Amino acid sequence: ERLANQIAAGEVVERPASVVKELVENAIDAGSSQIDILVEEAGLKKIQVTDNGEGIAEDDVENAFKRHATSKIHSRDDLFRIRTLGFRGEALPSIASVSYVTVETAVQGMKQGSLLRLEGGKVIEHTPAPLRQGTKIIVENLFFNTPARLKYIKTLQTELSNIGDIVNRLALSHPNIAFRLVHDGNKMLTTAGNGDLKQTIAGIFGVQTAKKLLAIEAKDLDFTVTGYISLPEVTRASRNYISTIINGRYIKNFALNKAIITGYGSKLMVGRFPIAVLEITMDPLLVDVNVHPTKQEVRLSKEPELTKLISKTINERLRLENL
Ligand code: ADP
Ligand code: MG
Repeated sequence: ERLANQIAAGEVVERPASVVKELVENAIDAGSSQIDILVEEAGLKKIQVTDNGEGIAEDDVENAFKRHATSKIHSRDDLFRIRTLGFRGEALPSIASVSYVTVETAVQGMKQGSLLRLEGGKVIEHTPAPLRQGTKIIVENLFFNTPARLKYIKTLQTELSNIGDIVNRLALSHPNIAFRLVHDGNKMLTTAGNGDLKQTIAGIFGVQTAKKLLAIEAKDLDFTVTGYISLPEVTRASRNYISTIINGRYIKNFALNKAIITGYGSKLMVGRFPIAVLEITMDPLLVDVNVHPTKQEVRLSKEPELTKLISKTINERLRLENL
């Protein structure tokens, strides 16, 4: 069982950023309104995620670290949710198998909370803890027992930028949750969590950038698209500032990114990319869930219709500004 977890860890936990992603997604799933992420040495020393969500009941804490012990009900209508939640009860055991984990969690209405400590997936302590609503998970010494994996880790700077990227996107796709990311004592981002996408963008890309955004709104029979795009003068040297969110989940789709860029036409300089955050709503059945489970890439039915809608909307919006 522990070997199986280590093998699964190879797929689920590629790097510190994947741990952050899994822990934060769990915090989101737990209905949190505030998620604090504290990272040391780009996550290799320590990753701590604190939420104010529903918590894990005393009887379930150890179970959460066993394989396929998901508490999340997977209905057929929930196909898209299943995919984005990822690993169906594999994340926690995988993470625990390659690190030291401490969990403090409590469920409101219970007499007490619980504290669980594991080393390399093995429970070494399970005791009562104070009643503090929510869950705090600390992951330390990541990859301590998998030196081969450690060797693949790029520079701390690259790892940190991967972490920043994933937290940015999770925050952008959940404007109603207040996020805070701190690295080695330095605040990297805070979002208000008041549901306002523009303010969330300000928290992530800066207030000055947020002042140079255009609101986008489009609708056809199958899709609703809302969000913000930057003025053509506000560009970046990388596509990383383009975010697409489908039904509340951040996704990667090459064609959608291209559609956004196409919408700008010749207004973008070569090698420059806009800042854009688009929230797209569609029937979940139009989202193909059958792509690589650890990647956020999705395939879309009616993709040509959607890309055309996006390009056209952006093009018209820029023309409205006489740009
Ligand atoms: P999955 O998210 O696919 O269910 P995980 O291994 O990520 O699998 O988590 C296992 C279970 O642990 C979850 O189903 C959930 O019940 C519980 N859990 C994990 N993190 C949290 C959290 N922050 N708050 C509440 N419950 C959690
Ligand atoms: Mg999970």
